[in-house]
Amino acid sequence: MQAKKTGETHITVDHPVTRLPGVGKVRARQLSKIGVVTIRDLLYLRPLRYEDFSCLAQPNQLQPGENATLVGVVRAMGTRRTRRRGVFLCEAALRCDEGELVLIWFLPARLASRPPVAIGDRVLVAGTVSHGVRGLQMVHPYLKKPPTAEQGVILPVYPLTRGLQQRFLHKCLNAAMPALATLVDPIPAYLLRRQGLPSLSQAVQWTHHPIHLQQTDAARMRLAYQEALGIAIAMSWSRRNRHVSNVSACQGDTLSLQQWESLLPYKLTPGQREAVVAVKRDMERSQPMQRLVHGDVGSGKTTVAMYAITKACVNGMQAVLLTPTRILAEQHYVRWQAHLAEQGIRTALHLGGNAASHINKQLEQGEIDVVIGTQAVLELTYSRLGLLVVDEQHRFGVRQRGYLAQRYPAHCLYLSATPIPRSLALILWGDTDVSVIAAKPAGRTSVDTRWISPTKRDDLYRFVLKEVAAGHQAYIVYPRIEEDLVRGEESLFAEETAAQTPTTAEAAFQYLKAGPLHTARLGLLHGRMPVQQQEEVMRDFAQGRIDILICTTVIEVGVDVPNATVMIIEEADMYGLAQLHQLRGRVGRGDAPGYCLLVANPRTPQGAERIRVMRSTDDGFLIAEEDLRLRGPGEVLGTQQSGYGELMYARFPDDLAIIRAAQEDAGVLLQEDPCLSQPRHQALLEHVRACFPTVIGQLPQ
Ligand code: ADP
Ligand code: MG
Repeated sequence: MQAKKTGETHITVDHPVTRLPGVGKVRARQLSKIGVVTIRDLLYLRPLRYEDFSCLAQPNQLQPGENATLVGVVRAMGTRRTRRRGVFLCEAALRCDEGELVLIWFLPARLASRPPVAIGDRVLVAGTVSHGVRGLQMVHPYLKKPPTAEQGVILPVYPLTRGLQQRFLHKCLNAAMPALATLVDPIPAYLLRRQGLPSLSQAVQWTHHPIHLQQTDAARMRLAYQEALGIAIAMSWSRRNRHVSNVSACQGDTLSLQQWESLLPYKLTPGQREAVVAVKRDMERSQPMQRLVHGDVGSGKTTVAMYAITKACVNGMQAVLLTPTRILAEQHYVRWQAHLAEQGIRTALHLGGNAASHINKQLEQGEIDVVIGTQAVLELTYSRLGLLVVDEQHRFGVRQRGYLAQRYPAHCLYLSATPIPRSLALILWGDTDVSVIAAKPAGRTSVDTRWISPTKRDDLYRFVLKEVAAGHQAYIVYPRIEEDLVRGEESLFAEETAAQTPTTAEAAFQYLKAGPLHTARLGLLHGRMPVQQQEEVMRDFAQGRIDILICTTVIEVGVDVPNATVMIIEEADMYGLAQLHQLRGRVGRGDAPGYCLLVANPRTPQGAERIRVMRSTDDGFLIAEEDLRLRGPGEVLGTQQSGYGELMYARFPDDLAIIRAAQEDAGVLLQEDPCLSQPRHQALLEHVRACFPTVIGQLPQ
């Protein structure tokens, strides 16, 4: 066969994806949204899961209650009204090689004329078989086109974004396979032999074109080993580097720890006190502090940060508090400015824009000691930066951390809520000291978490209004579907849900304001509103001028309004566990009991499982472990961490053993060859350098 594009036969892993047939500017932009820019990125793309079509069932052999996957042709079908108003029943007879099966859908009126299948369609269905009036049936089956012979029978399911389809990704991967020849294996052969792991090109092939599922496991383990080895080496170098660099030791104190505590409106919890003591010890050394304060939402991590900030400032240094959102920055500023001022510390809020030169001048003239703000604070000029605090650090990856540490040789304090479970933290934070705040301040009641069927919305609104009448406030959160990655599930019923209720915050706001919640004061908050307006709304909510906040996940992290008692999450099955837990953490912060109401009609078993977990526990660490088990670290750590350097492939707890093995191997390897200068470690050195440039940049060679 003739190559269509010149050079197509010579693609290498370093080429951009536009070298592939059928990938133009538009496709390239879509691919970049899932982290794929080069052919290498594509080859390393991690499937979310696999669909195994190798064992198709036949209707004749099925029993009610069984889960099955079948392929057949739609022989007959019809749609009729049901007794319920506005609900139509669509039935189809699916003819397979051996026997027939009835497929059933309940459709809203607007979809009645557009049934999910047509006569003559060859389809693949999956679901639970039950006993119906016409024999065996499947209600609302998972439905898709059966794989073609060239796709094979075990299909990887990739993450998608708007406009991307699985089929297209499969085609791209097929076309990219020849580039495998140019992919260098970073792991020396002797280590692979010792661990019994396949080569990189074998693993990549098995990842995307497996013949059986065991191959996908072997491939995943191999890639997890590679990542863990890389991280372990980077962490070891980073740790070593800390021991040789110098920063200002903050040995002075104007207040004793007790005196400082007496300025607070509460007593420190034991966990907070331990963390504060550790921070004090760290900062009094001339080696840079690198400490993670790890505690569940609401455990009071900010208070620990304020101690560190105070300590830096009374020692004549400047401090920075970096937050992931503007809302959070403003909240910290409003809450803590007076506390800091009491100790003679002057604080500025910086959210970008043209205020930079003014703040720079103030910093230069020593009129400001602390800057609180978003990423923009990293662009300012500090003359005496002594401390960098990063709030909600779990949103950043190993790489960003390395970048910050390199750019700001100062004491570093990271605050993080749950999303990284302990087992994972040990790996990703190998170069960091960790303080855990295990318990929340006393007197907090746990949040009453319930699963609400979408048909019960009226009760829900009545309940919210009752809470509002009692002087409390509420959030109603809507999924922000556009910017989210679709989780590889092309939901057949998305339209149905949309028909019943507005799914965007904006539409819901209009609907609720005019309808069910018109007696309350509603506010609207989402990320596409002008920032000033966002801040105004948040301020109004915090100060009680808004009763119910209709919003997106912009309020997910850090927001602290103790008077809010109700958190309603619409389409709760769409969110990951960590995110649900963060959202729930917005209520139950005061003395009154909190409620978290998860509105969902789960579309997938995983969605239902997540809601079950949320109802069963309030323990952030447990939820994080569970999240890791259900989704894997690639998903848990989110898109900010995507890339083949970080722990994306490992599955927990299954791969813990291979990860430990990688850490041990890294230890031995570095003892023999501390800078990876031996020729047989050349590829590994280059790999680590490419994955963690900032961490390596600090390496004293
Ligand atoms: P997070 O760990 O989620 O960042 P915050 O620092 O926002 O938690 O604190 C949550 C709430 O708990 C705040 O309203 C804060 O005033 C309060 N808080 C913090 N420490 C204590 C304490 N030791 N006792 C009582 N309340 C506290
Ligand atoms: Mg916080």
